[in-house]
Amino acid sequence: MAGHHFAVTPDTPSTTNRRPIGDGKTFYRGRFAPSPTGPLHFGSIVAAVGSYADARAHHGQWHLRIDDIDETRTVPGAESVILQTLEVLGFEWTGLPTRQIHKQSRYLDIINTLLDQNYAFPCGCSRRDVQRHAQSQNTAMIYPGTCREGLPSGRTGRTIRLHVPDTTCVITDRFLGLFEQNLAKEVGDFVVRRADGFAAYQLAVVVDDEDEGITHVVRGADLLSSTPRQQLLQTYLGFAMPTYAHLPVVIDSAGHKLSKQNAAHPIPDTNPLLILIHAWKFLGQVAPSQVGNVDEFWEAATCLWSPERIPQLKSYPMPRLDAGV
Ligand SMILES: [Zn+2]
Repeated sequence: MAGHHFAVTPDTPSTTNRRPIGDGKTFYRGRFAPSPTGPLHFGSIVAAVGSYADARAHHGQWHLRIDDIDETRTVPGAESVILQTLEVLGFEWTGLPTRQIHKQSRYLDIINTLLDQNYAFPCGCSRRDVQRHAQSQNTAMIYPGTCREGLPSGRTGRTIRLHVPDTTCVITDRFLGLFEQNLAKEVGDFVVRRADGFAAYQLAVVVDDEDEGITHVVRGADLLSSTPRQQLLQTYLGFAMPTYAHLPVVIDSAGHKLSKQNAAHPIPDTNPLLILIHAWKFLGQVAPSQVGNVDEFWEAATCLWSPERIPQLKSYPMPRLDAGV
């Protein structure tokens, strides 16, 4: 893969990027992939609203995927709470939600394919080994390539890593514009199978997007820097490449991204229309007038959706959800 360079242009992908889905006429299939680690917070709602509005405005399909690859983090009951919140907010998804947990063998088959083709290699290094090397060289926590040409004697494979090329990859994000990253210098050979045997997030998401025929990814900008890794996997595996669009991430008053881990407040179910309008305005959109319920909101919002109005920022502070709009 020397000299490997890839770029994605929005809305003018090659024919392999646009495949007929379902009825053979729809060329847009988006998705939302919450992890069942707790109730949705305002940040997840913003991502769902942006991706759903974009799918509706393209007369596309919108798929729901439960990102439960990491069983150890799954909170019992969280999934049904998430589905209930999405229903209250008027989201409608195509088909049944899919689950990653049932796809372990599919992921492992793909990892074996990568190994067979020498795109991936077993690595015997622990996180501490990588850390020690980085400290001794005074560099960032980037894998130094210790096992790239074979496991050093006495080592056994703990993880599987992907070879990354030392070239700059350029992404044209539909919302944020150009993004460049040199995987070798900024990320390093990354893990596709973790030490606990689970497929890593980057691998699972790429396989799922391929298997579900996802054509458009709309998600939070915290995942922008993951996109080159995902596109490299798609290139190695010969998968179709969706277009990517990243939305500003909601941060709290201290500047931290909202997450279930830092106990962001779950969304109250009492006034779903108000929550939708807050999320809509967060995305810079013109609020629909005279809507009385969530269905009317989505009817109006679909026509009003204007991606060019989305703030071109990676993050943006949270509004007060109890304030009127
Ligand atoms: Zn290693």
